[in-house]
Amino acid sequence: MRRRVSDRVRNQIILCQDGSPFVPQYPGGINFLKCTGCGECIKVCPQGCIELQEINGKLVAVLTKMELCIGDGMCKIVCPEDAFL
Ligand code: SF4
Ligand code: SF4
Repeated sequence: MRRRVSDRVRNQIILCQDGSPFVPQYPGGINFLKCTGCGECIKVCPQGCIELQEINGKLVAVLTKMELCIGDGMCKIVCPEDAFL
């Protein structure tokens, strides 16, 4: 039986440049206490998932469009405060 295209894509293993399997690095959230609002994560996010918002008088990064996240993990890598969960 022919499998649907969506099933074939879902079951593919994506390889990194070094040949190792790509493991998605979806952020689990942002620790508002650690975030300084520097905006570095926003600059590198290719999907526009993160915005700066004022919460309790403090500018912090918020994951506003997680449905677009591709799990590349760049936000986690660049954050100087290690604020991503
Ligand atoms: S993992 Fe990638 S796409 Fe997802 S929020 Fe972080 S930088 Fe954006
Ligand atoms: S890079 Fe880290 S400290 Fe800077 S805005 Fe993003 S979460 Fe906050």
